[in-house]
Amino acid sequence: MDNEAKQDKFTAVNELARRRGFFWQSYEIYGGAGGFVTYGPLGARLKQNIEAKLRELFVTKLGILELESAVIAPGKVFEASGHVDHFKEPMVECSQCHKRFRADHLLEEYAKKSCVETEKMSLDEIQQALEKNGITCPDCGGTFKPPQRFLTMFETTIGPYSGAVGYGRPEAAQGIFVEFNRLYAVAREKLPFGVIQIGHALRNEISPRQGLIRLREFTIADLEFFFDPEEPGCCLLKNVENETLRLYLAEERLKCSEKTIDVTVKEAVAKQLIRSEWQAFFMAMAKKLLTEIGVPPEKQRFIEKTQWEKAHYASQSFDQEVYVDRWGWIEVSGHAYRTDFDLSSHMKASGVDMRVYKEYKTPVEKEELVVKPIMAKLGPAFKKEAAKVAELLQKAPADEVAASLEKQGFYMVESYKILPEHVDITKQKTVVRGTRFIPHVVEPSFGCDRLFYVALEYAYGVKDDRVVMSFPRSIAPMQVGVYPLVSKDGLVEKAREVHRLLANEGFMAEFDETGSIGRRYARADEAGVPLGITIDYDTLSDGTVTIRDRDSWRQVRSSLKDLPALLHKYFQGKINFEDLGTLLPSK
Ligand code: AMP
Repeated sequence: MDNEAKQDKFTAVNELARRRGFFWQSYEIYGGAGGFVTYGPLGARLKQNIEAKLRELFVTKLGILELESAVIAPGKVFEASGHVDHFKEPMVECSQCHKRFRADHLLEEYAKKSCVETEKMSLDEIQQALEKNGITCPDCGGTFKPPQRFLTMFETTIGPYSGAVGYGRPEAAQGIFVEFNRLYAVAREKLPFGVIQIGHALRNEISPRQGLIRLREFTIADLEFFFDPEEPGCCLLKNVENETLRLYLAEERLKCSEKTIDVTVKEAVAKQLIRSEWQAFFMAMAKKLLTEIGVPPEKQRFIEKTQWEKAHYASQSFDQEVYVDRWGWIEVSGHAYRTDFDLSSHMKASGVDMRVYKEYKTPVEKEELVVKPIMAKLGPAFKKEAAKVAELLQKAPADEVAASLEKQGFYMVESYKILPEHVDITKQKTVVRGTRFIPHVVEPSFGCDRLFYVALEYAYGVKDDRVVMSFPRSIAPMQVGVYPLVSKDGLVEKAREVHRLLANEGFMAEFDETGSIGRRYARADEAGVPLGITIDYDTLSDGTVTIRDRDSWRQVRSSLKDLPALLHKYFQGKINFEDLGTLLPSK
């Protein structure tokens, strides 16, 4: 790391995270393992709170169903989904130190400057671009061996059978698709409906060097929203139609322009900038989520993927990006219109019907062609095999038989040549009451560790040379600190009593009696504790306490008996700090 980089927020946040127990690299005692992270007590809580926000927005408020499926899947699942063929990244190996790197990452600057898409490049083109631009090993300066494509799924065997290949899931979505029939039954066989899964995903990243941004094991929140493509309207669009989205469209990117546009959800849909209404709705929800975890709207945007960048399953894709100090714009969530790709693929590979039935509002009368074999003609023509030919003909698509007889004068069913005199083709009227179809899917997919990182970076601030982590109160890992002013005269006992009271009320409360009160406030600010409650001599005489605000450092005096109810309202966002008591003059 160079000196300049040492000053940035990435370094500051990572240093604080290690020191205060938010997170650190796993397996430190063995020298650490790249791409794996351990969340400490504050971090685990912060991450849970961010995931709770996702649940609140989608599960509690929208009624999205939640699922928890296995992390390991039989090979067939990821063969059918297309991952075995496509979940690969171009990789180069240094011929000197043998370190391996993502070739597209090495070419990032060149690609930006020359406006080329590395996704489009063949391995030969990648090699030429590396050579032409003099790109060598970042670690030792060596040249590279020819690039190859590396499958970034973790492969294993299931049980003690070497042939039973399994994969660690690189996304949680397939766990939803393969269970579609059961989930549809739980959803009372009605569209639209959505299913979310928040769980670990495994990706064998080639050289993860960006802390929480690129992990080999991370938490993903995949939400699959199923709807009828013939009724694609979003019934919830009204709720978000005036929300503004900043879009960086593919057409601008292809022109190498950095122009973004701010459009309301309503406009984006009307102008077909976002082709699925449900996708636009979830993009607005994603903006709400990021804003609620502390990322200002002007530091968020949605970048449309070009044809080459899109995942193999997507028809239109946007990435939600957040601006961070070290890396610039990074993706925090992906929004893909997956059409019927996944269900169709699993249906084909498993042989299980995953279509849903839709009854027409009014039954439709249809005229159908029917092929009737004429046994009196088939007998002499096919002898012993006449019965078999008749059966085959009955199963053959009538339209095809009729068209072939008319065009070519015969129809081949297996190796039997059917002539017009062998069959009677008639039109028959039938009443069709409904149809079967495969639902379409839009998917918002959030990387929880990246949400965690941006929440941490945007909370990070320095006031009077002290670090203050200004987490929004709804995600702060510790809600209140309880502090006896001094450790004598019964104040410690009283403070413990208050701590117990608040813990029993369900608040995440810490008790701290070590060091001066100033030191304790400073420690709490660094851990992002929104409120500090100090027990002093007046508490013993009149039952009041001081409440201190982490961000403004202002203080109010409040009565102990009102405290739990006030704090509940405060953490539900219903009242402000000043409403917690009588404001004290600032010191
Ligand atoms: P994707 O399926 O690649 O669009 O990934 C979905 C989301 O997961 C992304 O928007 C990221 O937030 C997150 N993500 C993807 N890869 C990683 C990784 N290696 N480490 C951490 N988060 C990731």
